[in-house]
Amino acid sequence: MKRLGILGSTGSIGTNCLQVVEALREEFEVTYLASHSNVELLWQQAQMFRPKAVALVQSAQNLNGAAYDLQRRFDALDVELLFGDEGLLELASRDDVDIVVNAIVGSAGLPATLRALANGVTLALANKETLVVAGELVTQTAKRAGATLIPIDSEHSALWQCLSGERLERLERVIITASGGPFREWPYDAFNKITVADALKHPNWRMGRKITIDSATLMNKGLEVIEAHWLFALPLAKISVLIHPQSIIHSMVEFVDGSIKAQLGLPDMRLPIQYALTYPDRLPNAFPRLDFARWHTLTFHEPDLEKFSCLKLALQALSEGGTAPAVLNAANEEAVGAFLNERVRFVQIPQIISEALEQHRNGQARDFEAVLAADRWSRAFVQQYLCN
Ligand code: NDP
Ligand code: MG
Repeated sequence: MKRLGILGSTGSIGTNCLQVVEALREEFEVTYLASHSNVELLWQQAQMFRPKAVALVQSAQNLNGAAYDLQRRFDALDVELLFGDEGLLELASRDDVDIVVNAIVGSAGLPATLRALANGVTLALANKETLVVAGELVTQTAKRAGATLIPIDSEHSALWQCLSGERLERLERVIITASGGPFREWPYDAFNKITVADALKHPNWRMGRKITIDSATLMNKGLEVIEAHWLFALPLAKISVLIHPQSIIHSMVEFVDGSIKAQLGLPDMRLPIQYALTYPDRLPNAFPRLDFARWHTLTFHEPDLEKFSCLKLALQALSEGGTAPAVLNAANEEAVGAFLNERVRFVQIPQIISEALEQHRNGQARDFEAVLAADRWSRAFVQQYLCN
């Protein structure tokens, strides 16, 4: 039986992960869970999975008098309750688990990623921002501690599966597929009118709000190129992006002999999550299956980097290297937050990120402090920009 710690258990990936665990109860035991502020769902999950401990990142002070009541409820269930970032990090540092799932959204997930890896624990990573902002630090930490990093992101899970048993030096390139999001066929002139509701309507996937907006701007694909660069130690020249509106082929690898391997499946995050949890094994499940007779037409085209300039900015940040990806990511998190709060328009998201990248002085991103400083600088820059 594998023991799991799930960080971000109340989000889209977190709840899908618990569905996988629920369906494979004999295989997994939940040791701990963590959420930011969704107390009620965390409570329900604790009742159902009986972890040893849970963490609520929101601090006890923010809960006013409710913290005491909450503590009593969890005590009665015999589940330890921790608060704040310290509580989250304490859980991530424990070694009474076999796999830590990091399903936190944003660069807020980085400290937990580093703690888990430094402990030598296997990390199933959904939190792609972790690799975008500090890819070198994260991969070096894993290497030093002998920890395995397994991708949950569907494209990277596909690449991981296609590369299994292959020699990396025989790889010509990887092809990361993208649905193209809800605005794939919209003329650029209409982008000015995009509302939050329009952008939250993803054609193929049900996900958290931040990644849904990233999918609409194609920043998500840019972040995934950076993620692939670090996960598979690939130069940018060996990573291409291809629009595939049906989201059936999750990604492909092309070898030096011209042969291409692809991984296919319905767009259902439970599949890559399950693979990450059972790796290197596979187990049967009852999730819906791909019916080729129904999905008989799979189409592909190149991405439009002018219309979706967030993708272009991400590629640019990767080629600049250093702290540029951390600045890109933080500016994106702030700009997406401002769009979701209707403070800026959709078309302003790339403008804000571009401005942040232009103004920032690049530096090395080898240690946590340097990455954190770049992240903070970028957030402050965007907040200042929004006030002007
Ligand atoms: P959600 O917004 O649905 O969930 C985010 C989770 O993180 C919640 O449990 C939330 O807690 C918690 N959280 C938020 N802020 C913090 C913080 N500061 N510290 C600790 N925990 C925090 O996001 P998704 O599940 O959609 O995405 C999670 C990650 O997985 C992202 O990096 C995303 O890019 C990646 N991913 C997601 C996919 C998807 O299908 N959703 C697909 C591929 C990758 P609370 O609920 O209490 O706010
Ligand atoms: Mg993805």
